[in-house]
Amino acid sequence: MSKYLNEESITPEKTPRKEEEVEDTVQTNLDTELLSAFDPIKRMNHGFKHFKIHEFNKHPDYYRKLAEKQEPKFLIFACSDSRVSPTNILNLRPGEAFMARNIANLVPEFNKLKHAGVGAIIEYAILALKVEVIVVIGHSRCGGITRLISLPDDETSYDFIDDWVSIGEPAKAKVIAEHPGASGEELQTLVEKESVRNSLRNLLSYPYVESGIANNTLKLLGRYYDFVRGEFQKLDDDDDIKPTTNIQESD
Ligand SMILES: [Zn+2]
Repeated sequence: MSKYLNEESITPEKTPRKEEEVEDTVQTNLDTELLSAFDPIKRMNHGFKHFKIHEFNKHPDYYRKLAEKQEPKFLIFACSDSRVSPTNILNLRPGEAFMARNIANLVPEFNKLKHAGVGAIIEYAILALKVEVIVVIGHSRCGGITRLISLPDDETSYDFIDDWVSIGEPAKAKVIAEHPGASGEELQTLVEKESVRNSLRNLLSYPYVESGIANNTLKLLGRYYDFVRGEFQKLDDDDDIKPTTNIQESD
């Protein structure tokens, strides 16, 4: 250590380091610290300092305007899995996306008596924020989907998880009927993808979604993030998710 101090002390006319250069050192230190003991306070302080210097302070006009009003174009459903944050994988800035994250990125059917947290997000995003696109993003190796596939399980049960992931039962049943020989990783991937389509279909049961699509002010998209291959895939028929004839007739 003293070696470096000595080197620095003999550097002639050393100019003061810019804030960003200091922050690069902070980032390097952070990378090192992440590999050693976890300190939640240090981690948060480092992270916020990085955001403040590299983002917030660099774009004062953007953040001044954003402080007055949020106008996100996206409502995104994604899994709570720590590896799949849409903010990271889609490089989203604050203000771009209203976010709903839960186990296995599921959207339940409209039901005022259950899952009010999800219903409130959808209602607010469409009626108050007037989002233009709802995206449901599934992902590889999803633990919630693994649990869905394992149900019913007589040996283990959870207070909340099993009831929640059972929202995906129609997707599981469809995959098993269409691919009776599928098992292991193949079955897992098929259910992960079909569950996204099932959630898109469930979105249509919300009156605000149905009318948004009918009025052409809202679009539904399904995507799949494969974090093993590093791919972001379009699901085959996601653009074909439209209200059924019955729903259209109710307008
Ligand atoms: Zn997941």
